[in-house]
Amino acid sequence: MKKMNKTGKRILSTPKRNRHYSYGAYLLMFFLGTKVLLPLKFSGYLQPGHYGYAGSAWGSGGLRARCARHLQKKKKRHWHIDWLTSHATKITIAAFREEYECNLVQKLLTRKEVTTALKGFGNSDCTTCSSHLLVLPSNFSLNHLKQPSFLISQ
Ligand SMILES: [Zn+2]
Repeated sequence: MKKMNKTGKRILSTPKRNRHYSYGAYLLMFFLGTKVLLPLKFSGYLQPGHYGYAGSAWGSGGLRARCARHLQKKKKRHWHIDWLTSHATKITIAAFREEYECNLVQKLLTRKEVTTALKGFGNSDCTTCSSHLLVLPSNFSLNHLKQPSFLISQ
């Protein structure tokens, strides 16, 4: 029997999980031109500079949907990172299928020019990293990480 939807039309196919709906981790790179007031938990401001935030998307919509959300200026602030992305410029996101955010953080921290930005930021589900927000050098490049599955920018 073919599946029918409520209007009686035949559903031709269920969408395959294609590359747009894949899951994994991403590195969100951005620049803050001015200091930004942090969420209450942190009290105070984050100073201007280049930053990187490692996150993951395993929920509905996968990496594409999550990355697209980060690029939206106006959104409900839900994650710590939302406080920053609404002020950020030069946002670029490198997405890695079947990768883990903590793995990205640990790999990046082996580079001496990369440091932890703010303890306890974005890593509430994590026991490995002290933060998922990193200070990046202005000439940061993605060398040393595996080839991203896709890159998007503002
Ligand atoms: Zn972590």
